[in-house]
Amino acid sequence: MPVRSKSAPRRTSLGIELRSINKTFGTYSALRDVNLDIKDGELMALLGPSGSGKTTLLRIIAGLEFPDAGPSAAILFNGEQIDFAKPAQRQVGFVFQHYALFRTMSVFENVAFGLRVRPKKLRPSENAIREKVTELLQLIQLEGLANRYPSQLSGGQRQRVALARALAIEPKILLLDEPFGALDAKVRQGLRRWLRKLHDEIHITSVLVTHDQEEALEVADRIVVMNQARIEQVGTPDEVFHKPASPFVMDFLGNVNLFHGRRLQGEQVALGKSAEDGQAAKIFVRPHDLDLDVEDKGKPAIRAAVQRVQTAGALVKIEVLTDAGETVNVEMPHERFRLTPVKKDDVVFVSLRDVRVFFEDYSI
Ligand code: ADP
Ligand code: MG
Repeated sequence: MPVRSKSAPRRTSLGIELRSINKTFGTYSALRDVNLDIKDGELMALLGPSGSGKTTLLRIIAGLEFPDAGPSAAILFNGEQIDFAKPAQRQVGFVFQHYALFRTMSVFENVAFGLRVRPKKLRPSENAIREKVTELLQLIQLEGLANRYPSQLSGGQRQRVALARALAIEPKILLLDEPFGALDAKVRQGLRRWLRKLHDEIHITSVLVTHDQEEALEVADRIVVMNQARIEQVGTPDEVFHKPASPFVMDFLGNVNLFHGRRLQGEQVALGKSAEDGQAAKIFVRPHDLDLDVEDKGKPAIRAAVQRVQTAGALVKIEVLTDAGETVNVEMPHERFRLTPVKKDDVVFVSLRDVRVFFEDYSI
C-alpha cells in the first residue's frame, strides 16, 4: 500500500525524555526506574510480554497517568519539563487496540471530530475542516469512503480511520497502543508496512506498543525491550536481535535453543553440564545458527536423532532430540538441506556456529 507524498502534511514534533520513572499501583510495581530518550521524529517500539508495563509507560507519556513522586523523576518534551501537564496540553494523538470510532458518525465526521470540538475561537472554518479531513483521508487512502459508517469498514480500514482521527489535531507526538492487535496476521502485516511508510512521510515522533517482536523489528527505528516493569535493552532492531543484552532479550526476539555449559578459560566454554569445574554458562543459539552433519566430522558437535522435518516454508525446519534428551530446533535454507536431506530417526551431529553465552545467573 503506497502512501501518497502529495498530501502528506509536514509537522513539527518533539523529542521525549523520561528520567527515573517509577509507577506503583498499591503495592504493585508497574514501572521501575525507567530512563529513556526518544528522539524527535523517531518511531520507537515498546516491546515486551503482557504485563511488562508498556501501556503504563505510554499513558505516562500521554499524561493519562502520573509517575510516582521522586527526587529525580522527570518527563521532558523537547527539553522542557512537563511532569504535570494535562493530556490536552501535551498535544499527543492516541490510537488504541479497539477502534474507538463513533459508530453513529461517518468516516468523515469521525476524522473531523477533534477539530469540531475545539473552542469556537480555535475552531477552523467549515472549509478548512473539509480540506484537512480530505487531506487526511488521502493520506490513509480512504478518500472514497468518507460517507461510510464504521460498521461498513473492515478492521484494518477502521484502524486507519482511528489514525487519521488522531492526526487531525496535529499532535506533536503519536502514541499507538497495540493498534493492530485485534486484526488477523495478514492484515497486520500489510498495515505495519503501511505505518512505516506513513511515518517516513510525516516524521512525527511515535511510540508504538506491541508484544509482537516481528512487528517491532520490521517497523521501528529503535526498540525498547521491557520485562517485568524494567527496560532490558534499548537499541536498533539490528542491535537487539544480533547483540541481545540479556537471555530475556535473546529469547523474546526470536526462537532460540538453550544449551548448558561451563566456562573453561576466559571466554572459552565447554558444552555439557558435566564439563570441568567452572562458572555455569547458558549458551543460546538461534535455529539458523546451527548446522547438521550426518557423520561425526571430528568438530565439536552434539549427537541427536531427527524427530521431525518441515519443508513447507522459506526455511527447512528440523527438530532433533539430543542424546541428553533435549529438543533442539535447526533451520536451514532449502539448498543446504538438499545436500543433507535427513529424515525422521536419522542420527545427526549438530554443531553451533554463532552462539551467545551468558554467565550470570539469569533466568529466562
Ligand atoms: P502491558 O501494557 O505491558 O501489558 P500494563 O502497563 O498494562 O502492561 O500493566 C503492567 C502491570 O500493571 C500489570 O500487571 C497490570 O495489571 C498493572 N496495572 C496497570 N494499570 C493498573 C491500575 N490502574 N491499577 C492496578 N494495576 C494496574
Ligand atoms: Mg498494554
